[in-house]
Amino acid sequence: MARHNASQTIARGAGRQKRGVCDSFPMSSAQQSTVVLIVEDEPEIATQIARRLEAEGWKAHTVGDGHAGVEAATTLHPDLIVLDVMLPGIDGLEVCRRIQADQAADGRPAAPILMLTARDDETDMLIGLGVGADDYMTKPFSMRELLARLKVLLRRVERARHTPAAAGEPPLVLGDLVIDRAARRVSRDGGEAHLTPTEFDLLVCLALSPRAVLSRERLLAEVWDWADASGTRTVDSHVKALRRKLGPDLIRTVHGVGYALEPTS
Ligand code: CA
Repeated sequence: MARHNASQTIARGAGRQKRGVCDSFPMSSAQQSTVVLIVEDEPEIATQIARRLEAEGWKAHTVGDGHAGVEAATTLHPDLIVLDVMLPGIDGLEVCRRIQADQAADGRPAAPILMLTARDDETDMLIGLGVGADDYMTKPFSMRELLARLKVLLRRVERARHTPAAAGEPPLVLGDLVIDRAARRVSRDGGEAHLTPTEFDLLVCLALSPRAVLSRERLLAEVWDWADASGTRTVDSHVKALRRKLGPDLIRTVHGVGYALEPTS
């Protein structure tokens, strides 16, 4: 797949005024010091990533095992997390779960998580489980591509922080599903669900066209700003996570095409 297109896609996106139909939030131009937590037990890889991010003017904090990763996510409040799957102590899958549970319990916004896997079948396993990571990369990867993907995730955080366009808008009500875009809260049948920023954006995208079938490629472009179709498995992973959190019947799979949100009362 044409990996090299990623940075070109982002470069085009940066100067674009008109954004996707699902994206009602303007971008902030404010430059903040981005804090990235790197959970990786291979010192060489961890150092390489940290150096590349620091060259970008970001702050990189590296830890070498799962327990330290969970703790650092709570104390550092990073903007982004790069998380290796195979770690001493607890694995990346459990680290991901614990970090997201801690954030939900504290009412903190979820920091996007990019997971690093050693093999493609590891990625398949994680996607199959619907682990709520925001993106996946298989080792070995290029630092350039990692940075490009992290920038995409960072834009999502920025959008979540700055939602004036949605303020005062009435919630989207689709049967028993209520989506408050201003507060970025979701409930179904009265019960609140804690979604990651990516899961929330994906749900809004589907909910804006209820019952319409949206292709994986369309969702990828709208929600992830990602033109490279190799990321379609990431869409599948997030649909699984939404089904786990909101019920299996809410999002219909149209085999070979994509997904549709089916409101129920
Ligand atoms: Ca490892």
